[in-house]
Amino acid sequence: MNEMDEDLEIKKEYIQLIVDGKRLDGRGFEELRPIKIEAGVLKRADGSCYLEMGRNKVVAAVYGPREVHPRHMQEPSKAVVRYRYNMAPFSVEERKRPGPDRRSVEISKVSREAYEPVIMKELFPRSGIDIFVEVLQADAGTRTACLNAATVALVDAGIPMRGLITSVAVAKVDGVLVLDPMKEEDNHGEADVPFAFVIRNGRIESIALVQMDGKMTVEEMKKATEMAKKGAMEIYALQREAIMKKYAAVEIEEE
Ligand code: ADP
Repeated sequence: MNEMDEDLEIKKEYIQLIVDGKRLDGRGFEELRPIKIEAGVLKRADGSCYLEMGRNKVVAAVYGPREVHPRHMQEPSKAVVRYRYNMAPFSVEERKRPGPDRRSVEISKVSREAYEPVIMKELFPRSGIDIFVEVLQADAGTRTACLNAATVALVDAGIPMRGLITSVAVAKVDGVLVLDPMKEEDNHGEADVPFAFVIRNGRIESIALVQMDGKMTVEEMKKATEMAKKGAMEIYALQREAIMKKYAAVEIEEE
């Protein structure tokens, strides 16, 4: 059995995920995992963020705008945005083989595409903006946790943006929709749908990413979008709080 088949085998195994109307970790259906966000945690990055979403622990570092190397990758009229998602070998139960794999390349690509229209690239011709996200501990929803951390790191780096990206997933488990699934719900559920939204002037303006793994009815998808929007607004408030906290600290230092 190859790695992919083993993965599918795990997915097929049945586990009851809703017991007496509650999720396995006691959360309500529309409840996020506890979130902790801290901006400006790395000295050498232009902007950074440490973020926990339940048992996920991630760090984001932003460098730039800076000169792009190799030079042939420069764009004469705008900045080049690069996004690298990486999982530490110790971030999952069984050691993960270090280095990029198909999954991390895909996550990096869709995450970069979420930021492309938001970052004001036209202000920085020939330069590059590099976003690195590192998963230190994984428990499902790492791409959403990383997007949330990257947003705070981008603001911390002072990168001008048209809006902020906030991300959360909705899953279907035991026939019901649940917000922000953790590992058991992600692995054994019927569907997992990560969303990312662009939030502008305190309101959700558009969707920057939706992925679908599994099956949902059209009606369920509509409901999932509404649940995700509500969850995203809660996360957005925490992202803002982390940024304000960092800048309040800077002002005090400068006085
Ligand atoms: P996301 O983390 O964005 O939900 P996936 O749905 O692909 O992305 O992965 C769900 C979870 O499965 C991850 O958060 C992680 O806990 C686990 N996982 C992913 N890749 C691996 C791997 N190579 N080895 C072990 N566990 C993994």
